[in-house]
Amino acid sequence: MNPIALIILSAIIIDLILNGIADYLNLKMLRNELPEAFQGVYDPDRYRKSQLYLKTNTRFGWFSGAFNVAVMLLFWFGKGFPLLDEWVRSFHYGPIITGLLYMGVLILCKSLLSLPFSIYGTFVIEERFGFNQTSWSTFVLDLAKGVLLAILLGTPLLAGILLFFEYAAANAWWYCWIAVTLYMLGVQFIAPTWIMPLFNKFTTLEEGELKSAILTYAGSIKFPLENVYVMDGSRRSSKSNAFFTGFGKHRRIVLFDTLIKQHTTGELLAVLAHEMGHYKKKHILQSMILGILQMGIMLYLLSLFISDQALFDAFYMPQKSVYAGLIFFGMLYSPLGFFIGIFMQMLSRKNETAADRFSVETTHDPESMAEALKKLSINNLSNLLPHPLYVFLNYSHPPVLQRIQAIQG
Ligand SMILES: [Zn+2]
Repeated sequence: MNPIALIILSAIIIDLILNGIADYLNLKMLRNELPEAFQGVYDPDRYRKSQLYLKTNTRFGWFSGAFNVAVMLLFWFGKGFPLLDEWVRSFHYGPIITGLLYMGVLILCKSLLSLPFSIYGTFVIEERFGFNQTSWSTFVLDLAKGVLLAILLGTPLLAGILLFFEYAAANAWWYCWIAVTLYMLGVQFIAPTWIMPLFNKFTTLEEGELKSAILTYAGSIKFPLENVYVMDGSRRSSKSNAFFTGFGKHRRIVLFDTLIKQHTTGELLAVLAHEMGHYKKKHILQSMILGILQMGIMLYLLSLFISDQALFDAFYMPQKSVYAGLIFFGMLYSPLGFFIGIFMQMLSRKNETAADRFSVETTHDPESMAEALKKLSINNLSNLLPHPLYVFLNYSHPPVLQRIQAIQG
């Protein structure tokens, strides 16, 4: 067997098995009795519901994961890649248009295949557990806007990458690196003001106790804050959240309307202090730099493999092309991407703990932070006792009990 095909196939199988084991261990951790920190605050019926939610989502994940792998293998070994190539080449366009067509068809098929799962997840699972607020019209509009945005933003980016690798030879990877970095920074810069409002309504937080408390706090830690935004998260789900987005003068702190409804001023302040902690501790800058570095490594490796005959043989492709090389390399990269992902998650968990500590140290209110975390877990039906392997593979935040313990210690 072709060595590259062997690597990719093994990676797919190992990934399936590893995640299957982690899921199994995770479910084995479920207990009837509530953890001590939650006794008296968590309604036992709702706690049982959270466990059912976990089981349902795990099973759904298995089904959709296995389905995706099966389709992918069928397409691969059914010689779908060369068949599609033959078809797009039959139009006799240049390499860029042909490449965009090839990738466009694959992306479209992948999206169509994931659509039923997305519908089931939203309108059956989330509905059943009382989270779903998405109407069918919102769902369809989201989909249409998402597709339009992907075409508008994705096409020039892909065309640029194809162009560089088609014509710039050995320099292509670092030309691409610079171009992609600038493009990503540009998109992130305009996202809070131009892209996100396409999906949600953002209003400035109304004057009052909460706003003045936030501004006073921001002043005390010298955080340059002009405004806090409220997002109509309730349009889609009753789950709640807060986040930090953008940079420069487009930087924004956003609270979900659902969060404001469920928490006290002290708790909201603790949550916002955590978000500002990410900024003060330079976590946002750090993840941006690491993302750029990772992109550089990936593009450099891409430049080494993109004209390797073995890469094309692995997918039964008689003719080499930049566009197919990009896709195949993406699959070959996935084992390395897996390890980089694990490292990034570890770093993220460490940063979350640091942001919690920042919040507690600057608000001097560990109780509110702990209360906020408890309420968030209860409202979002989070798993209180995930298995360490599952956390290691999947969690960007430490498990809630660990966070509460660290805060109170
Ligand atoms: Zn955080």
